[in-house]
Amino acid sequence: MKQIAILGSTGSIGTQALQVIAEHPDRFEARVLTANNRWQLLVEQARRFRPAAVVIANEMHYDTVKAALDDLPIAVYTGAEALCQVVQSGEVDMVLTAMVGFAGLPPTIAAIKAGKPIALANKETMVVAGELINSLCRQYQVPILPVDSEHSAIFQSIIGEVSPIEKIILTASGGPFRTFTREQLESVTPAMALKHPNWDMGAKITIDSASMMNKGFEVIEAKWLFAVEPERIQVVVHPQSVVHSGVQFADGAVKAQLGVPDMRVPIQLAFSYPERLQSSFDRLDWYTMHDLTFERPDTERFRCLALAYEALHRGGNAPCIVNAANEIVNRAFLEGKCRFLQMADIIEKTLDKASFITSPTYEDYLATDKEARRIATSLL
Ligand code: NDP
Ligand code: MG
Repeated sequence: MKQIAILGSTGSIGTQALQVIAEHPDRFEARVLTANNRWQLLVEQARRFRPAAVVIANEMHYDTVKAALDDLPIAVYTGAEALCQVVQSGEVDMVLTAMVGFAGLPPTIAAIKAGKPIALANKETMVVAGELINSLCRQYQVPILPVDSEHSAIFQSIIGEVSPIEKIILTASGGPFRTFTREQLESVTPAMALKHPNWDMGAKITIDSASMMNKGFEVIEAKWLFAVEPERIQVVVHPQSVVHSGVQFADGAVKAQLGVPDMRVPIQLAFSYPERLQSSFDRLDWYTMHDLTFERPDTERFRCLALAYEALHRGGNAPCIVNAANEIVNRAFLEGKCRFLQMADIIEKTLDKASFITSPTYEDYLATDKEARRIATSLL
């Protein structure tokens, strides 16, 4: 029985992870559940899955959650620090990082230092501090199992290989604005951006997908997860999201992983690896897939993708700056305080204004995150 701590159990990934756990009650148990604001859902989840502990990060909801679970032997904690503590519990066998944004970094580091294998959904952790995370994982001998569908596909494509990767083929759906002109992009609304063609995800990553910042972050994530330089990571727009990504080897052979777009597949594999478990999820229907298409991404219309490459190129804390600025403009766009194309402008200006650090420490990342948020907010 694997005891799993889910950081962000009320989100898109978190709820799907609980579906996986519910499908395999003989294999997995939810040991810890955490949420930030959706306290009602957290309470429902706790009553159903009976974890040993829950954390409601937002302290405003603590009393309500505590009272609602009073009749059960479930410990209730609150605050950001509690997230770091619960993942270290001796009973936890794996931590699924399904929180959104920079907030996922401290508890991920705490889990690694406690020797807990990581099922990594929170890509911002690798974007901000990939080098630090890799060195901690080496030091504490902790494996990272990718949950992001592309990285799970790459991971699956290299199983059993002993030769180096020649090139990663990182597929992108292109999002809801793939065919929009620059003029059309000027006036797109949050409601339009929130309608992703293939995936049903949390609001932040859905906006990142529309701007293609998500793909830029995935290039950074791939660099650190698979030790491949950015020049060897090719982004290919594939609107059908059937080919989830792949790897090319020295002989020209390409291995890719295909499937229905369903995050429960990579979540389940991260939980069960190296085994594959039975699932009730949909299967590909090969007779109806007439058009699988592939095209070059347009970094002129989708400048966020270019900015992520630029941050990688600069190195140091540059990706951390871009991540923080992006969190600010992403939220501002959702709230109608920033236009779609303005997001890239503000991120670019923040990248130029924030202090550059070549070899950042953990404390430097915390300071950079604060500084970049302040700059981006002032530019709004
Ligand atoms: P959601 O917004 O749906 O869920 C985020 C979760 O994190 C919620 O449980 C939320 O709590 C919690 N949370 C948010 N902020 C904080 C905070 N400051 N402190 C504590 N908890 C917090 O996001 P997704 O599930 O879509 O994404 C989660 C991560 O997985 C992201 O990093 C994303 O990039 C990545 N990912 C997601 C995919 C998807 O299909 N959704 C695919 C690939 C990667 P509450 O809701 O209670 O406020
Ligand atoms: Mg992805």
